[in-house]
Amino acid sequence: MSTTTKQIPYKPAQRSCYAVWEITLKCNLACNHCGSRAGDARVNELSTAEALDLVAEEINRCGMICSMTTGGYGISRTIAERMKQAGINQVSISVDGMKHTHDRLRGTIGSWTYAFKSMQHLNAVGIPFGANTQVNRHSAPEFPRLYEALVDAGAKDWLMPEQKPGRFR
Ligand code: SF4
Repeated sequence: MSTTTKQIPYKPAQRSCYAVWEITLKCNLACNHCGSRAGDARVNELSTAEALDLVAEEINRCGMICSMTTGGYGISRTIAERMKQAGINQVSISVDGMKHTHDRLRGTIGSWTYAFKSMQHLNAVGIPFGANTQVNRHSAPEFPRLYEALVDAGAKDWLMPEQKPGRFR
């Protein structure tokens, strides 16, 4: 394990462009709206260690801000610590409504609860995080309650991507 990477303070206003890399197709959720059709890993993908130790460190070394978007199902305290050490500066966790709605849309019972556990772990290691949410007829009525839950969890921002959410429109 390498030593902690020097991290650049997170200042969204300074960003002028983004580079996005879908680093794996492997996923432990089964979202109805998944645009990547994720599930199994591609052949010859980077390992988790390679992704963290090579890619995240190199992004920071080049002076870019390294962030991650995740379904948030399975970020343990140990993984959060590894993310911090690798130089991941900001995380966006997908949260598609309150518990029942999220678990239904994400195809996994318990995924809402774990998404908020992941936020606790990120908080504990000092990685700022926000949330991203699909807008649809199931999630939208829950936005006031979801807003309160995200604020209570410590979310710094809340993004609603402009994309068509499949059959949940
Ligand atoms: S979390 Fe959901 S939307 Fe994201 S890659 Fe996995 S299945 Fe697709």
